[in-house]
Amino acid sequence: MKSRPIRLCGACYAEVPYHRIEWQFKDKMKCDRHQLPLLTRKVAEI
Ligand SMILES: [Zn+2]
Repeated sequence: MKSRPIRLCGACYAEVPYHRIEWQFKDKMKCDRHQLPLLTRKVAEI
């Protein structure tokens, strides 16, 4: 079993615990809404 890292905005996720596909875009390093750098998590940790 292998897990791939995903990226998410902690502030967005705290509001709505839903993973947004836009966070996975390679050129996106921060959240458009909060201007926070995206966190990297392993799928298994969420
Ligand atoms: Zn955000």
